[in-house]
Amino acid sequence: MLTEEGTHSLKIHTYPDPVLKTQADPVRNIDEGLQVLIDEMLDVMYKAPGIGLAANQVGELKRVIVFDKSPRDEGRDPVVLINPEIVLGEASIRWEEACLSVIDFSAEVVRQRQVKVTGYDRNEKPVDMEAEDILAVCLQHEIDHLNGTLFIDHISSLKRALYKKKLKKMMQKS
Ligand SMILES: [Zn+2]
Repeated sequence: MLTEEGTHSLKIHTYPDPVLKTQADPVRNIDEGLQVLIDEMLDVMYKAPGIGLAANQVGELKRVIVFDKSPRDEGRDPVVLINPEIVLGEASIRWEEACLSVIDFSAEVVRQRQVKVTGYDRNEKPVDMEAEDILAVCLQHEIDHLNGTLFIDHISSLKRALYKKKLKKMMQKS
C-alpha cells in the first residue's frame, strides 16, 4: 500500500521491539496477501537501503525473507525466499554486520562461510541455493530474524550491554 506521498505504509521495527524476538510462522499459502507483502518488503529494503529484510522487521510473523543476490553490484537482483532453511553450513567467516532494525551499530559476527539454503520462491517453486561470503552471511542474518534472533545476540554480552547503553542515551535525546 502506498500513501499519497508515495512513501511506504510498512515501517521497519527496531530493537527492542518484541516482534524481533518472536519466532515467525511457516507460510502455508502463497496467496495474494503474501504477494503484496513481498512487494512491500522489497520496496522497503531498497529504499532503506538494505541488502536483506525479514518479515519480522516489518512486523509480520511469516517466514519470508527478501535480499539482493548481488549486493555489491549496481542494479537490482532481488530474491524472495519463503520458508527458508539452512540445510548445510561450512567453514567460518568473521563479518562486520549491521541491521536495519538495530540502529547506529555494527559488530563483527562469526558465521558460516558457505551455506546451502532451501525454500520456495513466490511462485511456489522449490529453491535450492548455495551461497558464500557476503551472501551466505546475509542469508544467515535474515533466517536468524525469522527465529527471533538478532546479530547482536551473537556478540559478547559486554558489547551488547554497551549497545543497550548507547541506545538508551539516543532514545533520551530524541
Ligand atoms: Zn537484520
